[in-house]
Amino acid sequence: MACIFGHKWNGCTCEKCGKLRDEQHKWNGCTCEKCGKTRNEQHKIENGKCVRCGKTIAEIITADLPAFNWTMSGNANARYYSAKAPSLCFAGEILSQLTNVPPMTYYMVDTPDGTLGRDIVGFFTEAPIKTKGLSTKYRTYGLTGAVSAESLMGYGDFVKMHSIAAATKMNGQYTKLVMMMKCGHCGYESPVETQAGDMERECYFCGTNNKTTRGGVSVFTAKGLVEL
Ligand SMILES: [Zn+2]
Ligand SMILES: [Zn+2]
Ligand SMILES: [Zn+2]
Ligand SMILES: [Zn+2]
Repeated sequence: MACIFGHKWNGCTCEKCGKLRDEQHKWNGCTCEKCGKTRNEQHKIENGKCVRCGKTIAEIITADLPAFNWTMSGNANARYYSAKAPSLCFAGEILSQLTNVPPMTYYMVDTPDGTLGRDIVGFFTEAPIKTKGLSTKYRTYGLTGAVSAESLMGYGDFVKMHSIAAATKMNGQYTKLVMMMKCGHCGYESPVETQAGDMERECYFCGTNNKTTRGGVSVFTAKGLVEL
């Protein structure tokens, strides 16, 4: 009632009646200091989430996720679903959010930096994916120098993944163990290709170069010992 002849706007808020409008916010990073509205940019990321608005990195990526379609191919024995995404962090989120992946079903997301796949045992690749200069729209959250990765962990049914990888390698085909690398800078977990020994991998979210290492894995198969 007080504002029947017009509000007295101070930025996004009317000084007289307290009404809010969605313009002229006073942004402090991702959050408006006056009304508390948030936007999906300029977050302050620490340990996997924004300390200002509370969004997790997965939520930040999901909010920006472009529309995509699965194209299905295959037959009664095996189904292949493929889609396209602009970067590995979107591919990783799309694949992470799949629940109950059935047997003999393979999801693959193509990006300019390579193709990331997911099946019932976890993540997989069929050709090398890039490890340097990844396209990510979130590189402003990253560092230019290298950090030590916080952790490198198996994902899904890692024992089964080992035996499938060993069989694949025995057949002379490309295989890498894909594991979750927790970025030592932002805390995001990227599904990265690994090898025995030292390696450097960019975080799919912030692009920071992470140094990490893993031990060799020996798998006994019917045809002999395989080192992964
Ligand atoms: Zn008003
Ligand atoms: Zn505001
Ligand atoms: Zn935020
Ligand atoms: Zn990171």
